[in-house]
Amino acid sequence: MKKLDMLYEGKAKKIYKTGDPEVLIVEYKDDATAFNGEKRGAISGKGVINNRMTNYFMRLLEGCGIPTHYIEELSDRETAVKRVDIVPLEVIVRNISAGSFAKRYGVKEGIVFKNPTVEFSYKDDALGDPLLNTSHALALGLAAPEDIALIREYVTQINHFLKSELSECDVTLVDFKVEFGKLTGGKIVLADEISPDTCRFWDTKTGEKLDKDRFRQDLGNVEGAYAEIARRLGITV
Ligand code: UDP
Repeated sequence: MKKLDMLYEGKAKKIYKTGDPEVLIVEYKDDATAFNGEKRGAISGKGVINNRMTNYFMRLLEGCGIPTHYIEELSDRETAVKRVDIVPLEVIVRNISAGSFAKRYGVKEGIVFKNPTVEFSYKDDALGDPLLNTSHALALGLAAPEDIALIREYVTQINHFLKSELSECDVTLVDFKVEFGKLTGGKIVLADEISPDTCRFWDTKTGEKLDKDRFRQDLGNVEGAYAEIARRLGITV
């Protein structure tokens, strides 16, 4: 499969057309941003890890009955995916308080929730991805009620599968963000990525952060943390 014109360049990935209008190629970059693009940098080798880890999780989730956009890994940084229209919602699931949740509600990090929370942000960089509820999403016409209901079901299952997979290698899944897209024909599938850029992973024994918070908070050893998560999952990079 050959890359044709670049369709889009985002903060961490480039998307290319292919000869098939229903297939795109994603290329993962080492560029890293945080705080809505205010902080910029690079994490050496991140693109390879995020590509391989996303595909690892996508294949796992497909096997568990969650439809995804994944087709085939093409190289260490490139993957063929089904073309989708992205639903403009960032769907965040939290098992433990951290990040913007802790800040917004004035609580410490590390509170383990009895029930995971599911929240939506409107995917719009210019507006700073504002938090919204289901009725806001419906009022703005961002998704149909049945799409939102299905997305809620899928993220609950995704949380369950990821949590149990990670717990086997002593990693606690604190929270994560996923995005969904619509295939031609309207089927909702999991899209985008699942990586240390989009999840919070804590070492279950030591509490050490093994994700992008090391970059956001200048904790050092960012590359080492990404590599450690990959190693624990048995992903070779
Ligand atoms: N997240 C993401 N992209 C975003 C915002 C959040 O991938 O634009 C992920 C983030 O890595 C974390 C989870 O979603 O795993 C919850 O993030 P939070 O809302 O706490 O925001 P942050 O602290 O990153 O601003």
